[in-house]
Amino acid sequence: MSRYQFLGVNDDRNFCECCGKQDLKRVVWIEDTEEGTIKHFGTTCATNPGKAFGHKLNASIRSASASYDRNIYSSKCWAYWEVKALRIDAAASEAMASMLTTIYYNMTYMGGQVKDQARMAYETWMRDVYYPRKAELAKC
Ligand SMILES: [Zn+2]
Repeated sequence: MSRYQFLGVNDDRNFCECCGKQDLKRVVWIEDTEEGTIKHFGTTCATNPGKAFGHKLNASIRSASASYDRNIYSSKCWAYWEVKALRIDAAASEAMASMLTTIYYNMTYMGGQVKDQARMAYETWMRDVYYPRKAELAKC
């Protein structure tokens, strides 16, 4: 296993931890398995041949970045249908769908701890929100 693991691309942060560049649309998450740290970078820094990650990760980074919009879109659709089934009011369901989009995206398209945390958040949501609401709806 190489020292640096590419975990994925998402918009959980908007700046690069390498050069400090701000207002990024999305960031690249890389785990340093030796130090046990996870950092986020802009695509330019993450794929810079001069940086420590080398070019081994570049193909995966570019491909994850290129499919980002499509993957976010499919996560949004999934969240929409999941929330729609709960029949809650519009404002609350919009907020919930947006939260679930992030969870679903991270659970599906990210790796390492980010994926594990998202999976746990999803299980918590299912247990605390989804199943109780479904049970409530079944009674009517
Ligand atoms: Zn940078």
